[in-house]
Amino acid sequence: MKKKTVVSIKTIADYHLEDYMRCSYQFYYRHLLGQESSYPSWRHMAQYTVNQVIREFYQCPVEGRSSVQILESIHRYWVKRVDLFQSRVHYLTVLGEITSHLLHHLLKDKRIEPPLFLLEKFRTEIKELEIDLSMTLQVADWSGEGFILKKYVLDADAEFYVSYHHMATLFCNKAFQTVPERIDIVNLLTGEEHQYYPSEKSVAEALAYFHLAKDILENTDSYMRPKSFSDCSMCPFKKKCHRDWVPQDREIRNYLYE
Ligand code: SF4
Repeated sequence: MKKKTVVSIKTIADYHLEDYMRCSYQFYYRHLLGQESSYPSWRHMAQYTVNQVIREFYQCPVEGRSSVQILESIHRYWVKRVDLFQSRVHYLTVLGEITSHLLHHLLKDKRIEPPLFLLEKFRTEIKELEIDLSMTLQVADWSGEGFILKKYVLDADAEFYVSYHHMATLFCNKAFQTVPERIDIVNLLTGEEHQYYPSEKSVAEALAYFHLAKDILENTDSYMRPKSFSDCSMCPFKKKCHRDWVPQDREIRNYLYE
């Protein structure tokens, strides 16, 4: 494969970073080469369900919100594609964990008014970096001092939390001229809830982070195989990736594959 080693990134979206952190090769195929697979992954399918359930929950009048209403939404939107998962056990585990944690986290939210933002997509320019940031704000609501962002994810690690905090802080500063009072991330596979309180210096830190992130995304030579290969067997780019991947030596790679 002739891989263009330095590319120009004009827009960084939240899902770009999520894909990159999971596997930079998937990011390369999907977002830089534009080879969007017609086969969804189990994560895309499950995240779609989660978003629809959240939307229906908050659009429902408060007196209609209940565990039955949430379960009906999950049943309506969950796509029964066992083949997308690593195994039947994996399928049932993901469905069970998502159901249980959505019930727990949504039902403890007793707000009456609809959220300030509900699954709304925004884009804003970051002049200092000559890029646009694009984000979908899942749930945002007013608080006493400002607003709180809440994001429901399917799996997340420390690297993801840091990345999301920086992105949300920088994005809100540029788009809304303020930073969120608090950023909550709920991991629907483990039930963990992570909270972050941006401070005054957080914007400068976020800008520095994205300066570095842009450099990394633009230099495809720095792309790494994922820490875990658990997703490789179900990856839609598996054949292409295994054919293209020869570690380290570019000359060997060229010799073998061009
Ligand atoms: S096969 Fe594995 S390493 Fe290759 S793109 Fe897919 S997940 Fe990444």
